[in-house]
Amino acid sequence: MTVHTTETPEITTTECRACGAQVSGLNGRYACGVCGWVNAWSEGHSALPTAAQDPDYPDPATGAGTA
Ligand SMILES: [Zn+2]
Repeated sequence: MTVHTTETPEITTTECRACGAQVSGLNGRYACGVCGWVNAWSEGHSALPTAAQDPDYPDPATGAGTA
């Protein structure tokens, strides 16, 4: 399955607010590999996909995903 997107993730770099290491991320979202610091999801440059956009999201209309 191929995921089509109109946005290319942008590689961004910042300084870890916890330990000062340089960390790279995508679209303003960072996870420090040195100390484990992560920034808030809301600081990202683009909107996150919603649960309903997940291909595995159970469709309430069809009842798929229910036992
Ligand atoms: Zn760090």
